[in-house]
Amino acid sequence: MTTAEIQALDRQFVWHPFTHMKLWLADDPLVITHGEGAYVFDSDGRKYFDGTASLWCNVHGHRVPKIDAAIRDQLAKIGHTTLLGLTNEPAAKLAERLVQIAPSGLKKVFFSDSGATATEAAFKMAAQYWWNLGRPEKCEFVGLTEAYHGDTVGAMSVGRTTAFHKPYWPMLFKTHFAPAPIEYRAGLHARVCDDALLGLRAILEKHANTIAAICIEPKVMGAAGMIVQPEGYLAGVRALADEFNVLLIADEVATGFGRTGAMFACDLEEVAPDLLCLGKGITGGYLPLAATLTTQKIFDAFLGEPWEGKTFFHGHTYTGNPLACVAALASLDLFAENDLLNHVRETASAFSLDLATLKDCPVVGDIRQCRFMVGVELVADPETARPFDPRLRVGAAVCQRLRARGILVRPLGDTIVINPPLITTAEEWRMVISALRIELDKITPDAGVAERGDEQIAGDY
Ligand code: PLP
Repeated sequence: MTTAEIQALDRQFVWHPFTHMKLWLADDPLVITHGEGAYVFDSDGRKYFDGTASLWCNVHGHRVPKIDAAIRDQLAKIGHTTLLGLTNEPAAKLAERLVQIAPSGLKKVFFSDSGATATEAAFKMAAQYWWNLGRPEKCEFVGLTEAYHGDTVGAMSVGRTTAFHKPYWPMLFKTHFAPAPIEYRAGLHARVCDDALLGLRAILEKHANTIAAICIEPKVMGAAGMIVQPEGYLAGVRALADEFNVLLIADEVATGFGRTGAMFACDLEEVAPDLLCLGKGITGGYLPLAATLTTQKIFDAFLGEPWEGKTFFHGHTYTGNPLACVAALASLDLFAENDLLNHVRETASAFSLDLATLKDCPVVGDIRQCRFMVGVELVADPETARPFDPRLRVGAAVCQRLRARGILVRPLGDTIVINPPLITTAEEWRMVISALRIELDKITPDAGVAERGDEQIAGDY
């Protein structure tokens, strides 16, 4: 098919996720045909650096021989078989491997197929855990302001992002919102560690009797704009959960599998959650797979007699899909073979000074980095953190211009997010940072950059 034919088909039939379809339809979409390492190629043969890691999930790059081969070998056996009433070797092996690398105490793995299903399963497990123990009133949750846990109803209820989910608020279940420890952004709850923990404590003091669990994105709140939590916050949340007898759910869909330089962000503060949600990078970014890990104690609470109704009646058709599981196993092998966590740590230290120089740009308000998770927040006035008029769509315009320079990144509002494959080298990071600097230097704080027509395609999120 020609590029024009694919674009025409797309325009006619496809509704894109998180996309302003009016803008989309007014432009020619980029058609990606193949990838290699940290790059993808369009239908005209142009090469782009995959600065979003294909939406925060690619780990070892594209077309990785070992993962390709694992999937091909599995295809010669079976593409899909269910975990409802049956099992298969890749799923069983992967569950063992995940338990081996997860924070201590997590012993059981429940598979699903996306980040949202991993968190949804965690919420239901937490609520039913208390129900099974004869405490049905403990069915509410604590989330953080501006957290994001996915787009299903439970996930939206606990991660109530203003930008994404406002139309659905009336249909969401009751959740208590603790202030997120956001150090910079005006307009949000700009409190630091102690205040945030005090806010959480206040909720627990009043409502612990009806709360099943606290859910947080440990260390980095990705979709909120790569908000990096202050040191000690995560451990503080764990301590409060213990003190008030509520479970802790760690949503590591974005942070898991090496992005923070540790296998899991919880490892950075030696925190073991009661439930751990994994997705995105679990298959190296190849196939949809997710997992919710939990403790023996929680699992055991579901072991009543069949007629007691304590079973976890939850599941998805593609749960434990063997193709996805072999991709995940190969990906885990590659972490060890390539000493990837070390690469992430060393590379991140190598480019962080370069990143910090962006602070000189007159529209850079805040630079947030946790190893390979980077957010550069653009504001009209860095002193007061006054944001740009959202109608200017400054972040989207900058990303559009970077695309012309062969770099794919997406904004979260006016925060430019750089979250590339973990194999990215320091030189590639520097290439992205210097291209970003060139574009940022063109922006005037008062006028912004948005020339009409300039902001097409990228969308705001
Ligand atoms: N949780 C977190 C922390 C995320 O960042 C995301 C996606 O960005 C999700 C959950 C939802 O994952 P998915 O898009 O695979 O449903």
